[in-house]
Amino acid sequence: DQSVCTPLPVLGRDVTVPLVTGGEVTYAALDYAASAPALQRVWDDVAAYAPYYGSVHRGAGYLSQLSTDLFENSRKAVAEFLGCRLEGDSGESRSNKGGGGGRREGDQVIFTRSTTDSLNLLAAVLPADCQVFVFETEHHASLLPWRDARVTYLNAPRTPAQAVETLERALADRDPSPSSQLRSSRGGPTSPALVCVTGASNVTGELWPVKELAAAAHAHGARIVLDAAQLAPHHPVDIEELDVDWVAFSGHKLYAPFGSGVLAGRADWLQDAEPYLAGGGASRKVARRTDGGVDVEWHSTAARHEAGSPNVIGVYSIASACKALTEAGFDRLVAREQQLVTRVREGLAEVPQVKVLSLFGDDAPRVGVISFVVEGWNSSHFAAALSAEYGIGVRDGLFCAHPLVRTLLGSDPQDPGECGAPEAEPGERSLNAIRVSFGAGTPDEHIERFVRAVK
Ligand code: PMP
Repeated sequence: DQSVCTPLPVLGRDVTVPLVTGGEVTYAALDYAASAPALQRVWDDVAAYAPYYGSVHRGAGYLSQLSTDLFENSRKAVAEFLGCRLEGDSGESRSNKGGGGGRREGDQVIFTRSTTDSLNLLAAVLPADCQVFVFETEHHASLLPWRDARVTYLNAPRTPAQAVETLERALADRDPSPSSQLRSSRGGPTSPALVCVTGASNVTGELWPVKELAAAAHAHGARIVLDAAQLAPHHPVDIEELDVDWVAFSGHKLYAPFGSGVLAGRADWLQDAEPYLAGGGASRKVARRTDGGVDVEWHSTAARHEAGSPNVIGVYSIASACKALTEAGFDRLVAREQQLVTRVREGLAEVPQVKVLSLFGDDAPRVGVISFVVEGWNSSHFAAALSAEYGIGVRDGLFCAHPLVRTLLGSDPQDPGECGAPEAEPGERSLNAIRVSFGAGTPDEHIERFVRAVK
């Protein structure tokens, strides 16, 4: 099939691991949802640059200048990957459908440490009075950072349409705010609001109706941030096409190494807030005052929230991965991954003891992330056996999405219960699940071995 490609070369393809049954086997990394192996191309780009690296934005020396160029060009590459229009770029800025903020002047791409860091940064710049709406099904990185805001947790929907309806109802009913110009459907003033939603679940792999949720948010004068940690590695993400206000993702799930992430989108709330971290790089001017204190003028660009010496290697890795995915033909990678999804689904369906977890139903579109339980098995023991007997690395547990997994397993989502690897007796309902996940670097053999092992 012309539209489908071969797997991209990744690190670790030849790593062998011992088996309890004797001998050794090449490691089958099927835990991409936790961290994907880095692309060989990313590693090569980093190796070529490493001897030349220097401090960014901090030196007149040649290598410092080179690193600064590389860092800023990486920002442009990520902007291009996400369809962002950076502040200061010529051309029409995209329409401002987001409520309450005035005309959009352009986007910022801010480099962070991870998706968790990106969403905590956004939480730190929310305007006063902001209400946050988040489904209980989110990863903890999207569920928990909003502690100082008024948060409404929305119940797990059982269809994509129900997700949109649930959000619309909650936004229409939101609390009045004395300080806002916006009007709710009931006529009263509404406070600024932010919806945080995942693009693809890290548990079920199911795709969420992001475009429809964004339209609902904007129709009610709210903004929306997309947690693309699991979507971006498996699917092109275009901020304009989806019409979301911000996108967050992590390098280590997008075939780059650990340590860097992205928050991209509207500049205004970011520019208006205190810096996320105070320090060098974020400040344009600092002077002593006559009263003994210090006056600071902060940057209004992305640098405002990037204080400290930036992780130029991590940032360059993300840009390299973005380019590699685009050059390989992301649509072809998606087509191949979907073939692997079908193979796993069909293979698991042949084992009557296996139950695949799903919120939106068995036929719902999903990326290469599939969780399941096996009747009569403790999920942690099952995952350990896949590793020890077949050299397959999967994940077991509640996947940092405790309320969602409890709902899917039919236990009480409000029960703080145990997490990690609780001991379920044979025949008891599972308290945690097994997750297999894969992507652009996965060879067919890993999937075949996995299906064989489960059988
Ligand atoms: N959101 C989702 C959907 C995720 O799957 C993850 C990572 N498992 C995160 C956020 C957090 O990513 P990180 O650990 O890189 O901050």
